[in-house]
Amino acid sequence: MSGKRPIYLLSRVDKPDSNKIETYLADGGYERARKVITSMEPAAVIEEVKASGLRGRGGAGFPTGLKWSFMPKEPAPGKPHFLAVNADESEPGTCKDRVLMERDPHLLLEGILISSFAIRASRAFIFIRGEYTFAARVLEEAIAEAEKKGFLGRKVFGTDYSLEVMVHRGAGAYICGEETGLMESLEGKRGHPRPKPPFPAGYGLWGYPTTVNNVETICNVPFIMEKGSDWFRSMGTEKSPGNVLFSVSGCVERPRVLERPLGTRVSELIEDCGGVWKGRKLKAFVPGGSSTGFLPAGMADLALDHDSVQKAGTMLGCGSLIVLDDHSSIVTAARILAEFYEDESCGQCSQCREGSGWVVKILRRIEEGRGRTGDLELLESLCEGAMGKTICPFPIAWGTPVLTALKNFRDEFEEAIRSGGAAAERETLEGAR
Ligand code: SF4
Repeated sequence: MSGKRPIYLLSRVDKPDSNKIETYLADGGYERARKVITSMEPAAVIEEVKASGLRGRGGAGFPTGLKWSFMPKEPAPGKPHFLAVNADESEPGTCKDRVLMERDPHLLLEGILISSFAIRASRAFIFIRGEYTFAARVLEEAIAEAEKKGFLGRKVFGTDYSLEVMVHRGAGAYICGEETGLMESLEGKRGHPRPKPPFPAGYGLWGYPTTVNNVETICNVPFIMEKGSDWFRSMGTEKSPGNVLFSVSGCVERPRVLERPLGTRVSELIEDCGGVWKGRKLKAFVPGGSSTGFLPAGMADLALDHDSVQKAGTMLGCGSLIVLDDHSSIVTAARILAEFYEDESCGQCSQCREGSGWVVKILRRIEEGRGRTGDLELLESLCEGAMGKTICPFPIAWGTPVLTALKNFRDEFEEAIRSGGAAAERETLEGAR
């Protein structure tokens, strides 16, 4: 899994008993948190993470240190600070946080300790995707091990700092990966996203200041504190520094999670996964998780960093590359993703609730040979009519695959309408779901 390139995030995951605290301690584990908590000020930790240029690995790519700096400097009396760890990894094609949680849970806990100290949080919640039962168990065992050693709980490392960490299992809703939906769910309510503002740093869990960070983001923090921001900036690109975990799936010989510098090209990742499967040709790829849309094979030289992917008209998302070969139907792939997103709309906003359903109906009829003149324009207007006009950005997740498919593969949709449906194998994205 780790390959031969310089890696740090996955450096321990293939070791025997990598989830146990003894092996983590033998590898120098918790020394970084000990040093930070016993000898640094929280503000200095925030400054170092800011200087590193670390950007969130959960999808939006927001600068982590800057996000932390939005929290109040000190907790006001009776107003605790919270860290919510977003482990609700539900985007089709994404499975990289799972590797970290199952195989290196203490790395995540050490990252949580340092991150919580930086934002003065007294409690951290790991909101984990409900289906990740094994990872949840591994994390609970790791928390118990760390508490026993005095690394978590009251008076961490003998200091005045205390931190309670708990695992909260989600109930299978994709939208709880959106930070305000996650907080509603953690509070015991339906996972309905909240309008922003107010933002979580001002009004988060139960109304208290909260920062929401993704698992992989937090796992970068111990390394930044150990090796420094210059080391971190020596990898990746100027505006997207560091390594990132790419989940590569779809039509490749060996789907897997790879750690590579940000800015790695799509073609290199496909090659590192054994190439396009069955000796076929690349037709299209989804650069960063199913919500980032379909790009054509001619763009396989695309560098996967935030700016390059944005210039290509989409987002890096959570680094989940889905590969489609030349036997795949883009019409079918778009329909499969649209069905997923229709299921996952929380239903609060009419543009999203109704629009996502209509997109599925229209794609289905095109695929089945019942497409009508004007269907493509109708699809575009449904997506554009919802994107940016709702409580949360979810319509961007279901609109982007449709709009990019129409932009880059329009002739395939027109052909399906003309000649009675989509004709291609339907194996590609069924496997990525
Ligand atoms: Fe729910 Fe969709 Fe509205 Fe987001 S945009 S709040 S998912 S209905």
